[in-house]
Amino acid sequence: MTKVEINEELCKGCGLCINFCPSKVLNYADYTNNKGYHPAKLINPEKCTGCTSCYLVCPDCCFEIYR
Ligand code: SF4
Ligand code: SF4
Repeated sequence: MTKVEINEELCKGCGLCINFCPSKVLNYADYTNNKGYHPAKLINPEKCTGCTSCYLVCPDCCFEIYR
């Protein structure tokens, strides 16, 4: 069982995590955070394998992954 949490207020919407997720779990939210960016969001959390790619590529340390 894997749980991924994203700190949406730290996110600057760069899209790196979305592009690097091999399981297509992530996409942009349709709302904006307090900085005016569309944050990354889990759209298919059940497909997450816990690979940690999103955690490793995010330049703003938005991710916490529990396995
Ligand atoms: S841990 Fe891996 S599979 Fe899960 S959201 Fe992050 S990149 Fe995608
Ligand atoms: S890599 Fe980090 S900053 Fe970039 S979109 Fe994903 S969560 Fe946001």
